[in-house]
Amino acid sequence: MPKIDAKRLIGDLRKLAEFGRYETGVHRPCLSDIDIASRRWLVERMTEAGLDAHIDGIGNVIGRARTSGPCLLMGSHTDTQPRGGWLDGAMGVVYGIEVARAFRDDPACKGLGIDVASWADEEGNFGSFCGSRSFIGDFPDAEIDKAVSREDGTPMRQALAKAGVAQVARAQVDPKRYRGYLEAHIEQGGKLETSRKRIGVVTGIVGIYLFRVSFSGQQNHAGTTPMPIRKDAGVALTELCHTIHGRFRQMAGPLTVWTVGQIQLDPNMPSIIPGRAHMLLQIRDPEPDKLDELAAEAKRLAAAADAAGPCRVSIEQSSHTLPTKCHPAFMDAFDKAAEIHAPGSWMRMPSGAGHDAQILAKKLPSAMLFVPSIGGVSHHFSEDTAEGDIALGCQVFADAAAAILRG
Ligand SMILES: [Zn+2]
Repeated sequence: MPKIDAKRLIGDLRKLAEFGRYETGVHRPCLSDIDIASRRWLVERMTEAGLDAHIDGIGNVIGRARTSGPCLLMGSHTDTQPRGGWLDGAMGVVYGIEVARAFRDDPACKGLGIDVASWADEEGNFGSFCGSRSFIGDFPDAEIDKAVSREDGTPMRQALAKAGVAQVARAQVDPKRYRGYLEAHIEQGGKLETSRKRIGVVTGIVGIYLFRVSFSGQQNHAGTTPMPIRKDAGVALTELCHTIHGRFRQMAGPLTVWTVGQIQLDPNMPSIIPGRAHMLLQIRDPEPDKLDELAAEAKRLAAAADAAGPCRVSIEQSSHTLPTKCHPAFMDAFDKAAEIHAPGSWMRMPSGAGHDAQILAKKLPSAMLFVPSIGGVSHHFSEDTAEGDIALGCQVFADAAAAILRG
């Protein structure tokens, strides 16, 4: 089996974390100067690992194996959340490079190919999953034309030109080349830690439905308008919010979560009865049927609130991503490799967060592996994982990759 070099792996992760270091974490928005510098560094590491590497026209770093046998694609992202952690995404990319090196160094892996990718902008500086969507042909030019950085308003076209890749073609997936796609990631939650497990074999990625619920009443004076004749959009909002919460609690599956993460009152002033209000309701679940059931219930409750008055209530679905299931044979390969290196210390689990794998899964059989996040913390500079767990995860990843390619 290919043997990973833990020191080399951790060393590269620490070096990558120097690009945009912030406290103990990293601030590296996609296509910022420091992000471009880190991408050039990745090209060098991939080239050293024996891959044909370049930065494509959307900022993806792609390293292709020169082998002619069966091939796996591995990757994740190296852009970060603002003042984020050093492992979120970066770990999966460096795993890919380390596995490519381990394969190169193992005569028994001769002819087996590992391609590695760092997908551009997973964290949403310019859009959602820009790099991986571009790779599967789902990111039209018109969307790039419109995209601007949430950090500083820079148009994406300008950022790509500055990076020197405006004239470079965008790489496109060739499904015939690959057995599939594997992505390793930190868990970003506390399930592994509280279960005292060191490896998570991901069963799927939850689907996310987002609804915008709007309320319209009558804006008026907060001192002179008697309670019985008010049409207070804020009251209508909080009542429906409460009703949905109660009803969802009865209907939820074991893994359902929902959040009202944004509420706005108009005009949002202390002495004015709000005439308008809106809230964003997000629902996540690994089962499409459960998502549809909860969506239908939210619509029914909104319609009932509208009929009851005194405010008008409307609900519209503003986005949805369907749940993604991981490839069963790949999950089995992860199970087996985990049982060899960490007997009894692994578990299967769904991912509550979105990942590039859900995009790649539209074109390739895909699967994911998790390692524990200390204290369950992520999207913060204090995010961390024990070095022993990082090394263990990479070895399990490498063994599973070899088994899949030989299978
Ligand atoms: Zn990530």
